[in-house]
Amino acid sequence: MKPPSLLACFLLLSTLALAQHPHKKTTKGGVPPRPKADTALTIHQSALIVDTHADTPQRFLDENFDLGQNTPVAEGHIDLGKIKQGNLGAEFFSIWVEPEFKGHYAKRAMDLIDSVYQQAARHPDQMTMAFTAVRPHEQHKFAALMGIEGGHAIENDMRLLRDFYRVGVRYMTLTWSNTNDWADSSGDVQDPNIKHHNGMTDFGKDVVREMNRLGMIVDISHVSDATFYQALLISQAPVIASHSSSRELTNQPRNMTDDMLRAMTNNGGVVMVNFYSAFIDENYRKAASDPEKIKQRDAEVEAYKKAHPHSDGSPVTYDEYAPLEKKWAAQFPRPPLKSLIDHIDHIAKVAGVDHVGLGSDFDGVTSLPEGIDSAADLPKITQALLQRGYTREQILKILGGNFLRVMHEVEATAKRLQAERKDSDALSFEDVELMVSNRVSATQLVDRIKEHGVNFDLTAERRALLKLAKADDAVLDAIAKGKRK
Ligand SMILES: [Zn+2]
Repeated sequence: MKPPSLLACFLLLSTLALAQHPHKKTTKGGVPPRPKADTALTIHQSALIVDTHADTPQRFLDENFDLGQNTPVAEGHIDLGKIKQGNLGAEFFSIWVEPEFKGHYAKRAMDLIDSVYQQAARHPDQMTMAFTAVRPHEQHKFAALMGIEGGHAIENDMRLLRDFYRVGVRYMTLTWSNTNDWADSSGDVQDPNIKHHNGMTDFGKDVVREMNRLGMIVDISHVSDATFYQALLISQAPVIASHSSSRELTNQPRNMTDDMLRAMTNNGGVVMVNFYSAFIDENYRKAASDPEKIKQRDAEVEAYKKAHPHSDGSPVTYDEYAPLEKKWAAQFPRPPLKSLIDHIDHIAKVAGVDHVGLGSDFDGVTSLPEGIDSAADLPKITQALLQRGYTREQILKILGGNFLRVMHEVEATAKRLQAERKDSDALSFEDVELMVSNRVSATQLVDRIKEHGVNFDLTAERRALLKLAKADDAVLDAIAKGKRK
């Protein structure tokens, strides 16, 4: 049986769709209406919907929240019931490391990563870990993917970056609201007390290159404008903004200017619109940036932290005082759904409809536009886009198609870069001859040849020379097979 809310949603959407296409109702003499009319619901249900940012892992880890629990929307935006109602196909769970965890960034990140895997293990019939978004959808399962929020999580260590890729992380925002040791953030770029880098340091640029090589998507949400333009210059693959909106419409420094949007078009990337009221509605943003009110909120949060210290000395996390922040945010009226749709529409017009998507920031924000209480309300976005004249094909791109294209391109770029590196690393005849004469063991030699390949043909003359140096047959065999093009 369908849950009643899904049925209600179906009825509402069907009614609206019919109201939009009155001719579809007038069928004469019992002739059935044309099948496959594009109603908002049929479009929405047929889409592979990808949302690129939700902060739910903190709830898994710090609240012991189970995705199978049906939570009131005031407490959480995402659970398996809401996912089903909203037909959410894939979610990028944010591995957000609060800067307060200094000294333990990687540990905190690994704990959050583990919490996502734990959820997938608890609900194997409904969800699965995924490292690319397509296959779980074919199995009718919700795909859980992961992105790191805040480059400080790699602790300035390229090996940790590679480790995070190995455990399944598929994007990383170069910064969060804090400038780190190698990239500037939009969150503090105006703060003279913070050491900045005019964008990125050389190490930061290498991080971008290594992400390209690994196949980890470069995410420019949160970064400063200088970091943004440098990342686009360096990246050989399309980049994403996993949760950023338009600065032209809502003047927030972490939103993207029209010039940045056009740069995204050239890069082939995609901007996933953030749903947070203060990023999509200028009235809300102005009301919520009243310095007196912010002061009062910050004082309340500080008082809470002082009153609830952890016995092990670990920081009080955002999740613990989130109810305070939500209560504070509720004093400002929620913007209309129109504001969110305006952002999608604006980015689609400036960057192109192939370069926009959804990056809700569910479970990470204290206010959402009217009508969007949780992931269950995603069909309302489809409905609104249809009403604005977007076609089925365009809507499918916005709901997930654009992101999937970028993910495939990032994977293809990684494959190419990895092959190129192997080419340039290929062993020369002199390398092999030296190792043979130095009595490097046959097993080791075979491994190295397999890893790097060779850049020479095994002619009869070279074979004879290696034989003379007592090269093993297995080594000669590996050389014969190891020629790089
Ligand atoms: Zn964020």
